[in-house]
Amino acid sequence: MSLVLVVEDEVDLSEVMRDRLVADGHEVVVAQSGAAAMAAVSTRMPDVVLLDWMLPDMDGLAVCRRLRQQHLMPIIMVTARGDEVDRVLGLEVGADDYLVKPFSLRELLARVRAMLRRVDLEGRRQGTGGAEKIQVGALTVDVASHGATLEGKPMHLTRKEFELLTVLVANPGRAFSREFLVQRIWGSDFEGFDRAVDTHVTRLRKKLGALGERIVTVWGVGYRFNSETEKDSF
Ligand code: CA
Repeated sequence: MSLVLVVEDEVDLSEVMRDRLVADGHEVVVAQSGAAAMAAVSTRMPDVVLLDWMLPDMDGLAVCRRLRQQHLMPIIMVTARGDEVDRVLGLEVGADDYLVKPFSLRELLARVRAMLRRVDLEGRRQGTGGAEKIQVGALTVDVASHGATLEGKPMHLTRKEFELLTVLVANPGRAFSREFLVQRIWGSDFEGFDRAVDTHVTRLRKKLGALGERIVTVWGVGYRFNSETEKDSF
């Protein structure tokens, strides 16, 4: 059974969402503010978060950013503002998907299920794809042995470069903030490490050759490894 955190201040809507998700076999926790959402996550880690954009205490984007600094769980932004810029922004702060109000309950369930399947497949809670080996074009990352090869030749990576590469390629299409990467790779939230992330990305790009172009800078956020279908970068 998966735990879904519904962050929604409209009581009627949150109840309908909860009932439908419970009927679909999920366990549901409802939070009615950003602060309540942060508290809920620290109490028990949800498998997926449905996060309303407009909350009484802080906006959903801020909540998304804060969650994303520490956690990899999928976040579906729920917005009443359907214009393109907002959607892109939602994804830029590290959301995985979005729903535009009004949405049907069928759509809600479909998105939640799809997200949970993705989590299963990618084993993203480990942040390493759960797989022993990750293959991207000519690149093979062997998570278990901490080694990577490019076109069959071993890549000479430092431990930090290897960890950075693993997080990025195991989660294609997902933007990671510098704070998150620092926390994850250096295990510290010391601000001075932001630069270290940039330096490591620069070195990784060089070592990856043509594949290095798929590590793109996400303006105001950090970095993302583009999946094959994504050619554009921010
Ligand atoms: Ca709201």
